[in-house]
Amino acid sequence: MKIYIATSNKHKVAEFGEMFQAAGLPCEVHSAADVIGFEAPAEDGGTFEENAFIKADALKRKVPFDAYVMADDSGIVVDALGGAPGIHSARYAGVSGDGADAANNAKLLKELENVEDAERTARFVCVIALDCPDGRKVAFNGKIDGVINRGAKGVNGFGYDPLFFLPEKGVTTAELCASDKNEISHRGRAFAKLAEFLKKQK
Ligand code: IMP
Repeated sequence: MKIYIATSNKHKVAEFGEMFQAAGLPCEVHSAADVIGFEAPAEDGGTFEENAFIKADALKRKVPFDAYVMADDSGIVVDALGGAPGIHSARYAGVSGDGADAANNAKLLKELENVEDAERTARFVCVIALDCPDGRKVAFNGKIDGVINRGAKGVNGFGYDPLFFLPEKGVTTAELCASDKNEISHRGRAFAKLAEFLKKQK
């Protein structure tokens, strides 16, 4: 079974690569970087699921007909901000590329400056879109609840991980090793559902 991951985010490719390995799925895994001439589409959907399928569908046109294509769209949903940054998490501060994570985290801390501890609840959300070779389209969802700390802690992961505190574990997701994060994360939970589905395919 061939599967292509429609992302250019190297952190996501690494996390999914580890998940495929841990799941023991007999898949030949490729990323969008292996596909010559693939350009990431504009993510102009209104939901995580729409954006995930925009990415998967764009790559599907470029890969062998017997391959599965998956894409995830993910982000952080902050209750005190009415669900922002949500689908706009990657460019929340208007910066793309290398400085984006630091700028996004600084903006989030600033926006929540006057928000009480009890009101700082948030969740990471992930939707994995799957385009099957026979034309079926299936979506798998995952989430993880936490709170936004008042400062950064931890050096693992990426994005908002240093701010995302898990009260029941007493650490941020940036303090978890990759395998521990994958076991409980939004992406890991969506992936577990994808893995169950793929195991049932011929
Ligand atoms: P996407 O590539 O459009 O799905 O962008 C997702 C954005 O949400 C990332 O650039 C991060 O800012 C944030 N995000 C998604 N998943 C995670 C995670 O596991 N940890 C930290 N930030 C995340």
